[in-house]
Amino acid sequence: MTVLAGPTAVGKGTVSADVRARYPQVWLSVSATTRPPRPGEVHGVHYLFVSPEEFDRMVAAGEMLEWAVVHGRHRYGTPRGPVEDHLAAGRPTLLEIDLQGARQVRSSMPTARFVFLSPPSLEELVRRLVGRGTEDAEERARRLRTAEVEMAAEPEFDVTIVNDDVTRATDELAGLLGVSETGATSTLPRVAG
Ligand code: 5GP
Repeated sequence: MTVLAGPTAVGKGTVSADVRARYPQVWLSVSATTRPPRPGEVHGVHYLFVSPEEFDRMVAAGEMLEWAVVHGRHRYGTPRGPVEDHLAAGRPTLLEIDLQGARQVRSSMPTARFVFLSPPSLEELVRRLVGRGTEDAEERARRLRTAEVEMAAEPEFDVTIVNDDVTRATDELAGLLGVSETGATSTLPRVAG
């Protein structure tokens, strides 16, 4: 199992969408969330859109491998059952979650591989965070502090992939997952005897 995390606005969602499109042999965990769907998002494909009450029930029943409040607003969590089923079936499995979630998985599944998606530079991350520049100076400063704190998590991870180009970053991730674009899962050569 591979966990992909990284700072806000680094492009985790874009990279995982590219994995979904070009490497269908990778199973991408479908998170549960209390946030409402955005246009084009499909229940069961992009997320399981659940009520706060249903999210509470899943947590209480021990059905979440990890969960967190993201951006201080909505809850997001990884349903445990499907992850265990796909791992048992030997399917390359990818979780795209936030840093808090990655830390929880680190303690419950220490043998997973933890990948930090990094921006080419802190300046570039801030540029992506601030977007069209509609935020005021205080908001920009707050986002910069968040970016610095999140970037400081990098040493906790096994591997860093720089998201300088989405296709290149996805291909590097696919290499770690042991899959190629032809649909085959690469296997190591057998050792005689
Ligand atoms: P968005 O609302 O833009 O789809 O996602 C917001 C954030 O939630 C992203 O940083 C994403 O990595 C994080 N996220 C999505 N699913 C999960 C999950 O199952 N667990 C955790 N901890 N974070 C998640």
